[in-house]
Amino acid sequence: MLLLAVICSFFGAAAQPSLMQVPMTPPDKAADLPTTGLQRQIAGPSRTRRLIIVTIDGFRWQEIFSGADPLLVANSEYVKDTVLTRQLYWDSTPELRRRRLMPFFWNTIAQRGQLYGNRLFDNKVNVKNFLKISYPGYNEIFTGHTDAVISPNLPINNRNVNVLEYLNNNPFYHGKVAVFTSWNVFPYILNRTRSGLSINSGYEKLNEQNDTTAEMIDSVQENMPGSKTRYDLLTYLSAREYIDRHHPSVVYLGLGETDECAHAGRYDLYLQHASHIDQMIAELWYTIQTDPYYKDSTTLLITTDHGRGWKTGKWTTHGFWANGSAQVWVAMMGPDILPEGELKTRGQVYQKQLASTIALLMGAPSGAGYPPGKPVPFHQAAANDGPMAKMPASLTPAATAAAPLTPLASVDRMTGSK
Ligand SMILES: [Zn+2]
Repeated sequence: MLLLAVICSFFGAAAQPSLMQVPMTPPDKAADLPTTGLQRQIAGPSRTRRLIIVTIDGFRWQEIFSGADPLLVANSEYVKDTVLTRQLYWDSTPELRRRRLMPFFWNTIAQRGQLYGNRLFDNKVNVKNFLKISYPGYNEIFTGHTDAVISPNLPINNRNVNVLEYLNNNPFYHGKVAVFTSWNVFPYILNRTRSGLSINSGYEKLNEQNDTTAEMIDSVQENMPGSKTRYDLLTYLSAREYIDRHHPSVVYLGLGETDECAHAGRYDLYLQHASHIDQMIAELWYTIQTDPYYKDSTTLLITTDHGRGWKTGKWTTHGFWANGSAQVWVAMMGPDILPEGELKTRGQVYQKQLASTIALLMGAPSGAGYPPGKPVPFHQAAANDGPMAKMPASLTPAATAAAPLTPLASVDRMTGSK
């Protein structure tokens, strides 16, 4: 409980102006460039200048679009207090239940963005990889590959180039890409050794200088028992603090506790974590939209690495053996995303399209390391500049070798199944 109190105090304290730090890094040059020339060429058709990617590990489309599952929420095998859990998350219709569980998704994203994957309308998002577990899923999201030889969740460096690395190798975004994840296998999935990405993963320290909030987070982390998955709240607070101080252009926030709760067969905690994550994303979006650096120029992309079994007795697991594990979802919101809300038309999107979608949103042209596959054909919010503009040859990734960055931390821990 003491730990919880400390963490909760971070939540409040970090928002106080007295703890706000002046960013240590210079402001992104993009903001200073004229609206013609380099900036326009790099931005292409997109008004997106910054990108926040969030993944919610193993969180099903069923809960996103219908809220608490009637067959699970009242099942004492999976819910310790069925009365209280129903009081918290139950309502008479799926539309009311989903809004109760995830108000940011259904009050804000549904109004201003797009939500893909409600199979009740035959709107589908599917995983293409065979295993339908975490490493192959994140590999598919970030590299566009459905690599059959990807190891099952082991800390082995990924041979595929990922889109975050691709962006970071571009001089325009170099050093402006930051990754914060709860699961400690991400340094391998994103191949930190090769990519040079700034990755803070598991219980790695932040090691920020002159930053009281970061020091508090590190202090808490030092005293945490070893685990392959950090508390999502710590991951979130770490990311938010970094965003406040350094203003990265691209942030990836990988959250993992929903999957842990599901594997533990705790549907009550699975719902609670989903609700917490909705609140975290809401708060992050509020931070973004009240910061001139990010306001109205940032796109938010939220998805998951895999689905779960759809049968009552199978929701705890996922994989090629569990029907439903290939069924996922995507939410997007930002200046280029037409506010269509929940898509209720027949359609099919694949997870492997997200890597090139991310590249497209950031206005990056094709080139060496460009992720394969076609971007998600989302409807754009306004008339654009036409086909994606080409970057000057001198700025293509092929023409500029990536200089390795100093990782946020370099401690690797043992990993487990996911
Ligand atoms: Zn899992």
